[in-house]
Amino acid sequence: MKKLTFLTLSLFSILTFSQEVSKERIKTVLSTLASDEMKGREIGTQENENAANYIAKLFKENNLEYCTGKSYLVPFDYNGKTVYNVCGIKKGKTDQYLGFSGHFDHIGTSDKSGDNIYNGADDDASGITTLVGIADYLKNKKPEFSMVFMAFNGEEKGMLGSRAISTDTNLDHIYNKLTALFNFEMVATESQWGKNALYMTGDGFSDLDELFNKNAVNGLKLNADPYAKQQLFYRSDNVSFVKKKIIAHSFSTVDMTKASHYHHENDDINIVDFDNMTQIINNFGKTLDKLNPKNFTPKYNDQVKF
Ligand SMILES: [Zn+2]
Repeated sequence: MKKLTFLTLSLFSILTFSQEVSKERIKTVLSTLASDEMKGREIGTQENENAANYIAKLFKENNLEYCTGKSYLVPFDYNGKTVYNVCGIKKGKTDQYLGFSGHFDHIGTSDKSGDNIYNGADDDASGITTLVGIADYLKNKKPEFSMVFMAFNGEEKGMLGSRAISTDTNLDHIYNKLTALFNFEMVATESQWGKNALYMTGDGFSDLDELFNKNAVNGLKLNADPYAKQQLFYRSDNVSFVKKKIIAHSFSTVDMTKASHYHHENDDINIVDFDNMTQIINNFGKTLDKLNPKNFTPKYNDQVKF
């Protein structure tokens, strides 16, 4: 009898949680992007292109459609060389979109002896892993919103990739229907509010956080930006879309007063809190599943400088 109960419970938990993204999956994706083989994913290198191809492979696994053309890779020019952003879409019940982004490039290697690879596990393999995880979560679902997933290149050289793709008119069919963009930037560590929490840059500029928190599941929370003076809202890839007057904020967990790993060689998988990331990704997915073009209509106020 005891055995039967245990079996029933096990089956129940498998059924209940089968839709969730596993910690192992999150670990695999982040560890691959932040591996030494990727040599810091600097724009213009072979390893940067390998990272783009890996993300394209993950998009394919999630049955995403191309944003434009015949590939997930969306080319742009970098010093006379063709480099790529990566873009995929998932059609929902409506043609109104939510967007998810992060940057996959990082700063390469240094001339130091010993560990000279900038793995960029937090910056920003964690952001890419988060958007891939959200696509994983939604794989077998049909949410109300359609979703666009964008992995930007060249952020570290001045937000080159997001600028290129945001001005690419081949994607206007998406941008014209883009309700909001969630840009994930450094989400690998526990926030100053504890687990299951992020902050939103430029929270005073729109009501996105209020509308999201109203629908958020399992205690997931978007907090106000504690570093408002640093103007992070205008300093990350989201700004390329702010210029188009699209609601676009960056979301982060990093404690800027303590983050000694920022642009250092020790930004590797040892600093990643995989339990926290897995929880955030699954709760994000569940929350997004509840959002629709009627209950989620974020608007800017008049304080934004476009
Ligand atoms: Zn970054």
